[in-house]
Amino acid sequence: EERDDDSHYFESYAYNEIHEIMLKDKIRTNAYRDFILSNPAIFKDAVVLDVGCGSGILSMFAAQSGAKKVYAVDASAVAFKAERNIKANGLSDIITVVKGKVENIELPEKVDVIVSEWMGYFLLYECMLDSVLHARERFMKPTGLMVPSQTSIILTLFSGASLINDRIAFWEDVYGYKMAAMKEEIYDDALIDVVNGGDIVSDEYSLSDIVTQTVTVPELSFTTPFTLTATTSTTVNAFLGHFDTFFTTDGRLASAALGPKDLKETEIFFTTGAKGTPTHWKQTVFLLREPFEVAEGTTVSGSFTCSKNPENSRELVVEMTWSIQAKGAEKDGEVKAQVWK
Ligand code: SAH
Repeated sequence: EERDDDSHYFESYAYNEIHEIMLKDKIRTNAYRDFILSNPAIFKDAVVLDVGCGSGILSMFAAQSGAKKVYAVDASAVAFKAERNIKANGLSDIITVVKGKVENIELPEKVDVIVSEWMGYFLLYECMLDSVLHARERFMKPTGLMVPSQTSIILTLFSGASLINDRIAFWEDVYGYKMAAMKEEIYDDALIDVVNGGDIVSDEYSLSDIVTQTVTVPELSFTTPFTLTATTSTTVNAFLGHFDTFFTTDGRLASAALGPKDLKETEIFFTTGAKGTPTHWKQTVFLLREPFEVAEGTTVSGSFTCSKNPENSRELVVEMTWSIQAKGAEKDGEVKAQVWK
């Protein structure tokens, strides 16, 4: 019997609250709007597929930018509301809402552009990109464009003393009682929180540059080496993760290392990192069972593995192994390992 990880997922998108949170996230929504509206050369007379249309917002941007036809697909009951929103704005002639899983629907034609807001916590929680890639294989013309074109997963070292006080030390004295039992699982799960960018204590390492134009589903589970260099002397309490999103006009690989600097005028970038304006994705904290000390120039190198949780295909398992090397030291330190879900 096939396990059903979908019903709960699509039900969660039927409620208004999540759509309100996403629409009020201006960093997110304005990036899509700015890219779509500033590129009529891409959208004029184009056939567009909006994978996971939600309230219908991206479909309406595409129509406003000159699209000839937009297919707005969503498996959640929010699709019925999208249909009403689209009608209320006089766009029903251009935008056709299709309620269903994009994997199961049929479209009468191939599309020039796929727009989708598929990103989850730490980019890949939810695993919605799998569905978008499936849609790309089935529905996009060979000359088509994926929007956004690239996302990069970034790792840094994090000191975060105030977060540690709030989430861990707190349990040592709760109204005068010891409650250490309450903090046991805190190390097993990645923690989603807005943290202080000033507590990032290393350079950034890009674990994965995902080019949506060409990436394949198996590549979304990966193992990659990483090296981080500490920028100050401090205690490292966590690895910190976030993702950056690039909208390029030709789908090419933007250089994550260069960040937004090498984008053209009509290209757009946003970060979900702690040094940027907070988004609803916040940051992802991988708390360490064994915090460690670094000095400026200490390197932490290891291996990062991201895979799907075998118990729920919409969840992730992150595994890291690492060792610490003092600046100029010849031998690597002991190898440590930890797993987060
Ligand atoms: N595009 C909207 C909503 C993004 S949230 C916006 O930008 O505000 C993602 C939406 O994708 C949810 O409404 C969810 O129900 C839908 N979705 C996720 N996977 C899907 C799939 N495989 N087929 C159809 N819809 C999907």
